[in-house]
Amino acid sequence: MATIIDGKAVAAAVKERAAAQARELEARGVTPCLAVVLVGDDPASASYVRMKERDCAEVGIESRDHRLPAETPQDELDELIDRLNADPAVDGILVQMPLPKHLDAESVIARISPEKDVDGFHPESLGRLVRGLPGFRACTPAGVMEMLHAYGIDPTGMDAVVVGRSTIVGKPMALLLLEANATVTVCHSRTRDLPAVCREADLLVAAIGRPEMIDSSYVKPGAVVIDVGINRTEKGMVGDVDFASVEPVASAISPVPGGVGPMTRAMLVANTLEAARLRADASQS
Ligand code: NDP
Repeated sequence: MATIIDGKAVAAAVKERAAAQARELEARGVTPCLAVVLVGDDPASASYVRMKERDCAEVGIESRDHRLPAETPQDELDELIDRLNADPAVDGILVQMPLPKHLDAESVIARISPEKDVDGFHPESLGRLVRGLPGFRACTPAGVMEMLHAYGIDPTGMDAVVVGRSTIVGKPMALLLLEANATVTVCHSRTRDLPAVCREADLLVAAIGRPEMIDSSYVKPGAVVIDVGINRTEKGMVGDVDFASVEPVASAISPVPGGVGPMTRAMLVANTLEAARLRADASQS
């Protein structure tokens, strides 16, 4: 029987810490503030934004809502980003993805000031991660690291396999595990004999976007399995891991829902608090 890694509980602890930091900052005259930009009316994006704003309210972060119509031209979105970059009261800027197709997401991400890049997607933030410098780490992989830490799972010396090489999850995940002294293999759709590579893993992270693809035939007995996947199916939300098949084999496993998802949101709050702390320190130095 595997230990079930309770992302909700770890996220609650992260948010409690954040709330205490927010109170300290308030006492120094700084109200942490996250600007949330939503373009269009995609229901899933609107619901993510609502949850993020609720998290902010819970810990004492002011959130400023910027809702733009789906047909907003690039220059108007750029102007908004510029205004938010220049606003000294705004600590973090979150542009909810995906953007409507006529907008250039890469240039929007690159336009956000790296000091306010609380999503950790900016090329400078990723460059800082590669160079081992301080900076904002992408929330999902940072959340996975926090979960492992909370459960006393030290990646040092482990053979870690990350399935998925996206810029927001797979690649930063691999780099964070490398930073934590794991020996890391990154897999993707062209990997030959994926089950065999995965079976070598002491720590397996699935960030694929394929419902329940990873079953016990991919898992070495005793491995730690982290399921990043969020897939909406007829039977509800499921991960990339077939929980029923893998749980009896793994030593620890994160469920979906209630695993990595809540951690991603908690790390956004933590990053925003960090941005606000840096602002408070800079204004008092
Ligand atoms: P992407 O679609 O950007 O990347 C998916 C990756 O999986 C790609 O690298 C792709 O390979 C690889 N892949 C796809 N099919 C296979 C296959 N059959 N075998 C091996 N590799 C495969 O997705 P994201 O990284 O954005 O997200 C991954 C999952 O995580 C999704 O379910 C998403 O919803 C979820 N997610 C969850 C979050 C959370 O908070 N829990 C946050 C962000 C994402 P290739 O590069 O070769 O195409």
